[in-house]
Amino acid sequence: LDPTGEDLTPQELDIEKKLRPLSFGDFAGQEQALENLQIFVQAANLRGEALDHTLFHGPPGLGKTTLAHILANELNVNIRVTSGPVLDKPGDLAGLLTNLDERDVLFIDEIHRLSPIVEEYLYSAMEDYKIDIMIESGPNARTVQINLNPFTLIGATTRSGLLTAPMRARFGISSRLQYYSTELLTTIIQRSAGILNVPITMEAAIEIAGRSRGTPRIANALLRRIRDFAQIKGNGSIDIQIAKFGLEALHVDAHGLDEMDNKILLTIIEKFKGGPVGITTIATAVSESPETIEEVYEPFLIQQGFIMRTPRGREVTEAAYKHLGRLKGPTQGG
Ligand code: ADP
Repeated sequence: LDPTGEDLTPQELDIEKKLRPLSFGDFAGQEQALENLQIFVQAANLRGEALDHTLFHGPPGLGKTTLAHILANELNVNIRVTSGPVLDKPGDLAGLLTNLDERDVLFIDEIHRLSPIVEEYLYSAMEDYKIDIMIESGPNARTVQINLNPFTLIGATTRSGLLTAPMRARFGISSRLQYYSTELLTTIIQRSAGILNVPITMEAAIEIAGRSRGTPRIANALLRRIRDFAQIKGNGSIDIQIAKFGLEALHVDAHGLDEMDNKILLTIIEKFKGGPVGITTIATAVSESPETIEEVYEPFLIQQGFIMRTPRGREVTEAAYKHLGRLKGPTQGG
């Protein structure tokens, strides 16, 4: 159950698309971000101008891509989709930019992974809607400046800390997405079940929601798999028994924590006596980058009350010991 969605098969990607809300009205949660976005879109529509460049940041699976598509729909314009690692040549970016119609959206996922050359190239496009293009080569090489149609760049990143300051400064709108409550995820699961045509009880939806790591992508993935259990082991509809049976068979943790979440907690407890311990040390111990720990895993563990940030580093809480069935050692003063 990868929250990043990187391992999705083409069929799964298709279903993910089908489950994607298309308008502000279909999108659950993130009220604060949404309220402002709706106003900015309305104003841009009234003036007939492009929406300001917009940055979405936050952990994977919370709806950044979905929001980019919704913005394009609500602006009534086309969206072109690409990503930081794919756009490795300024020429590719130039091709995309010169093909944008007025007010179109260019969505760049993983924008923190743009190469410095491409990033620099993007600056003047974002600022003045102009780019320099090199024509011919050798002794005849020269650059010409091309005017672009006013457009909106929407960037998404899980690692806002890795964005350069000049890049960040070029976004007029910046929005951090939050983890979803069990209630919101329940609504999302019910909506998705409706689209997938599978009956589900309220109790079952709540059970699945509570184990979805605060993440709509995981909620939808669990729903799809439990739908299979319902079809093969049950009568096709999802009730609490089938939901629990499926969740157990999928080895989903009661809190929806994934393997890395549990590894982080266990490492702090077993190797560092529960902390406090620095993020870099934790990262080395679990073989992940400190940035990924800090921006993908830690926010959820903090939100769930398993980890605390202290001036001397990260500490696990009582709840983490309880969750892992460990006793707190004597060094912890307990
Ligand atoms: P991100 O780009 O942040 O990784 P996505 O926008 O791709 O996340 O969302 C992952 C999946 O979760 C999508 O298929 C979408 O259907 C679902 N989803 C995300 N946010 C919401 C939401 N607020 N309401 C309903 N479904 C959502």
